[in-house]
Amino acid sequence: MISTALLDRILPTVAKPARYSGNEWNSMRKDWAQAKVRVALAYPDVYEVGMSNLGLAILYDLVNQQPEMLAERVYAPWLDMERAMRQAGMPLFSLESHHPVRDFDILGFSLQYELNYSNVLNMLDLAGIPLLASQRNEDCPLVIAGGTCTYNAEPLADFFDLFVIGEGEEVLLELLRLYLECRKSHAPWKEEFLQQAASIKGVYVPHLYRVAYHEDGTVSSIEPAKAGVPARVQKRIVPVLPPPPVKPVVPFLNVVHDRGMVEIMRGCTRGCRFCQAGMIYRPVRERPLQEVLDAIDQLLAHTGYEEIALVSLSSTDYTGIEPLVRELSQRYAEQRLAISLPSLRTDTFSVALAQMIQRTRKTGLTFAPEAGSERLRQVINKSVTADDLLRTAEAAYASGWLRIKLYFMIGLPTETLEDVLAIADLVKAVRGIGRCWHGPRAQVSVSVATFIPKAHTPFQWLPIEDAGQIAAKQQALRRALPGRGIELSWSDPMTAWLEAVLSRGDRRLGQVILRAWQLGARFDAWAEAFQPQLWQQAFAKAGLDASFYATRQRSFAEVLPWTHIHTGVSTAFLWEEYQRSLRGESSIDCRGGCQDCGVRVAFDLDRCPSLADDTVRIASEHARDKADRVAPAGRSHMMDSE
Ligand code: SF4
Repeated sequence: MISTALLDRILPTVAKPARYSGNEWNSMRKDWAQAKVRVALAYPDVYEVGMSNLGLAILYDLVNQQPEMLAERVYAPWLDMERAMRQAGMPLFSLESHHPVRDFDILGFSLQYELNYSNVLNMLDLAGIPLLASQRNEDCPLVIAGGTCTYNAEPLADFFDLFVIGEGEEVLLELLRLYLECRKSHAPWKEEFLQQAASIKGVYVPHLYRVAYHEDGTVSSIEPAKAGVPARVQKRIVPVLPPPPVKPVVPFLNVVHDRGMVEIMRGCTRGCRFCQAGMIYRPVRERPLQEVLDAIDQLLAHTGYEEIALVSLSSTDYTGIEPLVRELSQRYAEQRLAISLPSLRTDTFSVALAQMIQRTRKTGLTFAPEAGSERLRQVINKSVTADDLLRTAEAAYASGWLRIKLYFMIGLPTETLEDVLAIADLVKAVRGIGRCWHGPRAQVSVSVATFIPKAHTPFQWLPIEDAGQIAAKQQALRRALPGRGIELSWSDPMTAWLEAVLSRGDRRLGQVILRAWQLGARFDAWAEAFQPQLWQQAFAKAGLDASFYATRQRSFAEVLPWTHIHTGVSTAFLWEEYQRSLRGESSIDCRGGCQDCGVRVAFDLDRCPSLADDTVRIASEHARDKADRVAPAGRSHMMDSE
């Protein structure tokens, strides 16, 4: 264990020492000696960001519920703490017991953002764990990862023993049990474990696959290197959402989302073509209304939170959203519970819903039209009209909100300057409505991101727009949006460039990430720490061309680096959606009719839960019924259907 005296000496010298002290309300400290498997759950960003991640909170709760297992947390030390730790020779340690991470059996990272990759390497190094999986012996912890980035984890393939593709709730426990078994019965155990793990649905062991390249640098094949390893790794899903954690760790300091979170629905039926989450989380599964209400009761009792977020990709699409919000507003009227809907849909957001939320305390209202013109919204399949947005803005301002935040992207496929300037028209129209209600106090915040084509989406073959053109469009928008009451912000084009490179890269990028980290790259997602020139140097040293990954149009025939990872959505569907976008044709929401995306077949569903009108009932009943009928303990039938 890390010495308390050493911690006491170091913590007063760094910013926000509560990031590293642990001991928070509801944190779990299990008996280290009694646990048969010890897992360090790592988030490669600062405490405040990692503590706001619901996925990690779910796994922390899940593992700690198992009598023979233990999970503790670790986040990336900020630059000052890293310096202090290195000076003192202090290794990376867990928050609960302050054990060095090196002493755990498994180090499991949550990978949600490509700009955290340099932090992953830094955390391994601080832990004293060799960075390359091939250099780690049997005494090192297994280094594994889950999260959205694992849908194309190739750039990190050299550093990890395995990746969990899809939803970790079931896979993680299966893996841990297999780990126990192999450690007990095999010496050496590691290769045997990895071989067996590769046959678990949703587990990808990168060193068991061989990647070959054409002379032009494109991938020519990705094949299993051993018999018994599946050619394609299909993502894992849980047929029914497991009970949500109701005793989350309550932080001592302000974190990004300082509130209780209950996931009301997983997946989204909208089919926005740019949205990776909308594709990879299919099909939709809703949590029954009563379960949500019970969970919120318990969560508030265990935490004392005054705000609750109803989490999903599109919260207003939840079948029971109106009764849920109404019930919460009544039940917690006295406590003035704030209700947060992190993802409001713009076209059906009702005045009634806005007023229901307002009856308690108001939180911010954010909408995401994504593109300025109707034409471009058709291209990206964002079925929101200008009238929808203006009606919604009217309802919101009329209900007492002073500020509306709008999210847009630029650099979208087929985008022209006219489309970009249409953003300004829309924003000014919203501000005009706000002024009618509140005069000069009305505010519109406009956040403009750069579009990044992501793996497993209909736009996965497209280049990112050149940084110079993006800068020109940002400039034009800035000129078109002068005046009071409008606050404009955008993402750094170089950040978008790096994300574009890493999110669709292949295995060769491992050497770039390694060199960038060696050169000093850390916290690339943070403006104050990001040094794009380090990455440019790393590319040069590795002899690789970043534009090959970022600004090159790929053909349908090209073997993409993530071809062997299967989300259930077929490539044919993605390509057809891309072609429809070029024709300016929208596609309907799954709830209006199945578009045959492939998920129903891939997961052997008689009826896709995304399709159902009565989604809560059908999704739960269908999945429970199937699980009861077919699945062996702890294993879902859906997973066995490949
Ligand atoms: S199978 Fe059909 S209903 Fe289900 S997610 Fe795909 S398109 Fe939607």
